[in-house]
Amino acid sequence: MFVRMIKAATAEQLGAVRERAVAAGLAVYEEQGATGSTLAILGPSGVSATLEQEFAALPGVASAKRATRPYRLASREFRDAPTVVKVRDAVIGGGSLTLMAGPCSIESRDQLFEVAQGVADAGATLLRGGAFKPRTSPYAFQGLGLDGLRLLAEARERTGLPIITEVMEPAQVDMVAEFADVLQIGTRNMQNFSLLNAVGRTRMPVMLKRGLSGTIEEWLLAAEYILAAGNTQLILCERGIRTFETAARNTLDLNAVPILRRLTHLPVIVDPSHATGKRWMVAPMSYAGVAAGADGIMVEVHPKPEEAWSDGEQSLTIPMFQRLAGELRSIHTLVTPLHDDPGAAGASPTKS
Ligand code: PEP
Ligand code: MN
Repeated sequence: MFVRMIKAATAEQLGAVRERAVAAGLAVYEEQGATGSTLAILGPSGVSATLEQEFAALPGVASAKRATRPYRLASREFRDAPTVVKVRDAVIGGGSLTLMAGPCSIESRDQLFEVAQGVADAGATLLRGGAFKPRTSPYAFQGLGLDGLRLLAEARERTGLPIITEVMEPAQVDMVAEFADVLQIGTRNMQNFSLLNAVGRTRMPVMLKRGLSGTIEEWLLAAEYILAAGNTQLILCERGIRTFETAARNTLDLNAVPILRRLTHLPVIVDPSHATGKRWMVAPMSYAGVAAGADGIMVEVHPKPEEAWSDGEQSLTIPMFQRLAGELRSIHTLVTPLHDDPGAAGASPTKS
């Protein structure tokens, strides 16, 4: 249930709503909006109509409504305004264009520093790089681990770019969190609920990739685990899904972008590298992602893609990324006025 307080509600009135919820064995999450606070009052078996009426009648309450969707804190029903995630000097969401770029895997100091400087010079806003790699084959390169994290932190020092890197299991969270600015949850772990709880407890920015076969609802419910653990700094990443089509590595579900903009306040990033698996498809699908209203892209870049230890076929060269970054900035400027925020009052129904 979502309880909206009137703007002039007092701390005592807010406290009384909280107390009633706690007495009913329900959890309370609060969101400060422009028109006052909203409380999400949540319990495993939902809220009865009687309780809903009881809350609606409490002093200072503007409305009390039961949720219409299975995810709660991720929903626009709870929070209208787009979530803006702050990562050092960078912001993700809220109209900004985020360009996350870097190698699939960190391979060596020279390789990482060359890419890091190249993408920084091209205007990337975050540096990506995998230290712990979830590989389909146990015989494939599994990443440099802790040494990779140390190199990433050095690359951040040199370039000033915040870093995003994957964490694969709950036991790794503290170690990865010590180095990373954004924790990435990979596609294979979208429903690793103990990992979602663990990153939720960190309060650090997290990017949750869509599961290979995850529906949008399952994805938002996975996001809900992180939000319910108390972490509001969350980003979603569409990275392609498994379909009957085999011509590309995966199928980039661009429908997800406008759907998510309507359903959730969380920022949405598109990863055309893992979605396509082909270098020559990365630019067109990046254009499409930004044009569809994504808050940015994540792309893989390598100084010599043909020598990459992982995902070389889909990695851009540094000059290719430099060109792409400029093109995406132009597209973003062009499309921004076309996208009303679906949560904003007066949003055009034809545009969003
Ligand atoms: C990655 O971004 O490094 C990665 C492994 O991607 P995904 O989880 O989308 O396959
Ligand atoms: Mn990769």
